[in-house]
Amino acid sequence: MNAHLQGHTVSNLQAVATSPLLHVDNVSLEYRTAQRVVRATHHVSFEVGKADRFVLLGPSGCGKSTLLKAVAGFIEPQEGTIRLQDQAIKGPGPDRIVVFQEFDQLPPWKTVKQNVMFPLQVSGTLPRQEAEQRALHYLEKVGLAAFADAYPHTLSGGMKARVAIARALAMQPKILLMDEPFAALDALTRRKMQEELLLLWEEVRFTLLFVTHSIEEALVVGNRILLLSPHPGRVRAEIHSHQYGLHSLGGSEFQASARRIHRLLFDEEQAQNQVFDLDFTDVRIAY
Ligand code: ADP
Ligand code: MG
Repeated sequence: MNAHLQGHTVSNLQAVATSPLLHVDNVSLEYRTAQRVVRATHHVSFEVGKADRFVLLGPSGCGKSTLLKAVAGFIEPQEGTIRLQDQAIKGPGPDRIVVFQEFDQLPPWKTVKQNVMFPLQVSGTLPRQEAEQRALHYLEKVGLAAFADAYPHTLSGGMKARVAIARALAMQPKILLMDEPFAALDALTRRKMQEELLLLWEEVRFTLLFVTHSIEEALVVGNRILLLSPHPGRVRAEIHSHQYGLHSLGGSEFQASARRIHRLLFDEEQAQNQVFDLDFTDVRIAY
C-alpha cells in the first residue's frame, strides 16, 4: 500500500471513530390495526455515540418501547431512517441486544450459565466451549460466577437482572438496548442495580440505549437524556449530564436538575429552541 492510500485509510478510520454509532433520523412509528392507526412517535431524531449511556425519558405511552423496538429491528419506521454505523436497520441482529423488564424470560430449565451461553450458540456466534468461557467471563463481571450452575428460580430479582445483563453483554453487541430493566425490582434493589450497571459500564464501556419513565433513574444512568413529550412522542429536549453517580443523588444540584426536567417534560416551562446551562447539566431544547 502506498503512502497516499495509507493516509486515506487512517483518516477514514478516524471518521468512523468520531461519527455517531446510531443515527435515528426523523422517525415516526405507527401501529396499524383494521380499525385505526396509532401514531406512537412523531419525527424523532437523535444520535448515540460510542460508549454513550443514552436515555429515552418520557411518560408512559410516549413511544419509548416502540422506539427501542424499532432500533432492535422488530418494527419498521413509517417515516425516517435508523442507521447503525451507517447501515440501515433491516431487522433484528446480534449487534443489538435487548434486555426487557421481565426477567422470567430466562428459561427455567437452563442453569444460569446455560442461559448466558444460549444466545451465543443459537446465533452461531461461538462454538460450545468458547461460549462457555465467554459466559463465565461475563458472569464473573456481574458477580455471579458462584451461581453459574444455579437455576433461575433459586435467584433473587436482582440476580436475575444481572443474569439478563450478562447474557446480553456476552453477545458483545454494538449497542445494548434496555427497556425499563429495573422497573419490577424493589426500590433498594433497583438503586443497587443502577449502581452496578454504572460500574459495569466503567469496566466494559459498552454503548447503552436505556428507556425509563423515572427522572431520577435517567439522571443516574445517563450521560445524555432525550426528553419525549406525551403521546405521540416528540423530542422535547436533550440533556447532557456532566456528572453521574449515586454520590450526587441526594445533592441539591441533582434535585434541581430533576425538578427542571420535570418542568420540561410536563410543559410548565416553555420549550423554545433554547440552550440552557445548568450547574449539573446542559439542556438543549429541541422543540
Ligand atoms: P412507552 O414505552 O413510552 O410507555 P409504548 O411505546 O409502549 O410507550 O406505546 C406508545 C403508544 O403506542 C401507546 O399509545 C400505546 O398504547 C401504543 N401501542 C403500543 N403497542 C401497541 C400495539 N401493539 N398495538 C397498538 N398500539 C400500541
Ligand atoms: Mg414501555
